[in-house]
Amino acid sequence: MIETSSFWIGLVQAFVGQALTYFFIVSGLFLVFWKWGEQRLLKYRIQVRKRVDAKQIGFEVRHSLVVLFIGAITATLISVLHASGRTNLTPDADSLGWPLIVATTVGLLAFSDAWFYFWHRLFHHPKLFRYVHAVHHKSVDVNPFSSYSFHWIEGAILGAWIVPAVVFVPMYLPSLPFVQVVGMANNLMSHLGYELLPPKLLRIPLLRWMNTSTFHNLHHTALNGNFGLMSRFWDRLLGTELSHYEATFTSRASTRRSAE
Ligand SMILES: [Zn+2]
Ligand SMILES: [Zn+2]
Repeated sequence: MIETSSFWIGLVQAFVGQALTYFFIVSGLFLVFWKWGEQRLLKYRIQVRKRVDAKQIGFEVRHSLVVLFIGAITATLISVLHASGRTNLTPDADSLGWPLIVATTVGLLAFSDAWFYFWHRLFHHPKLFRYVHAVHHKSVDVNPFSSYSFHWIEGAILGAWIVPAVVFVPMYLPSLPFVQVVGMANNLMSHLGYELLPPKLLRIPLLRWMNTSTFHNLHHTALNGNFGLMSRFWDRLLGTELSHYEATFTSRASTRRSAE
């Protein structure tokens, strides 16, 4: 029997902990890149024109708080299920073995990449777009505060797969925060507004298929492609990658700015 009071206490703790951690990181990135680095890091900026204002940041913070609350519900539900022995999570690495631990962790990352891609494409359907995903696209010149700025329905759907995963997939307990941290880091990089990876990345096997800040930034300005968030895999496979991605990634805004 799930104890109601412990659920609510856990929920408040999870929400406060996740929100403080998230906004500490996001504010730090914003101060470094968008304030301190506004001129100093100009050559790494992706968009030529700066369009972020206090109104946009306020909108992003409000929506991020709701999405963080949804994330806290998911985290609390998982911890309650785990405490009552209803998950397949184990802290015992030996009982699973490292090959299985690596396989399930990589599998979770690959699954979350596919889950995001297909839902994201669906949310861009002309009949659906304005009801849910338009919230995220209010941010055109994306910045760290845009990372979790979604409609609550989108926040709930994007994170929903993790609950059945912990119930049915035999999983090493630390894999769960690991996947969450990789997901958050990837999301923050995607919305940084600055490209720090070198142009030669596109010549490195395997790494060239990873998502970059430019890749997702172009999605916010063009809307009709680059739907993946962790890799270019699904966009390449299904022909939705924006044709100017590689040229934009290698050219850098400093070149495009001087060409204007
Ligand atoms: Zn989108
Ligand atoms: Zn985005």
